[in-house]
Amino acid sequence: MNDCIFCKIIKKEIPASIVYEDSKTIAFLDIAPASPKGGHTLVMSKNHYELISEISDEDVKAVILTVKKLSKALLKFAEGLNIIQNNKRVAGQLVPHAHFHLIPRFVGDGITVEKWSAHKYKDSKEIEEVAAKIKKLL
Ligand code: AMP
Ligand code: ZN
Repeated sequence: MNDCIFCKIIKKEIPASIVYEDSKTIAFLDIAPASPKGGHTLVMSKNHYELISEISDEDVKAVILTVKKLSKALLKFAEGLNIIQNNKRVAGQLVPHAHFHLIPRFVGDGITVEKWSAHKYKDSKEIEEVAAKIKKLL
């Protein structure tokens, strides 16, 4: 994709702090880290896909292996790690090139990505209906 900022980084047309790359994947530091101590890393396929659901099986396997590789390093760099992957604007996706956020966590870092306000299903019928709907979509 010509106007994709991450494709430009992959093609080395614009700079980034690349921490790992291989033939199929790349990992570089997010310029605006969630973690005050930095290390927030983005991992993605070198081929352009907008959503996780669109990534080829071959590329998604490579991406998840790179996520695991970076996780090992970041769990030594930090005390904990969150992995987030946003799809579509409503879910917070700003750059339409599917990517994983690896966010190093430290005690007292003030980050709240893992905290959401939890809802309750009305009853067992409602939860079963939702489960049935999702199963049909697989
Ligand atoms: P998302 O909202 O999931 O699409 O995440 C996009 C992320 O890309 C944000 O956290 C940005 O800080 C990051 N970002 C945008 N431009 C660059 C860039 N040129 N280099 C590194 N990270 C970037
Ligand atoms: Zn792209």
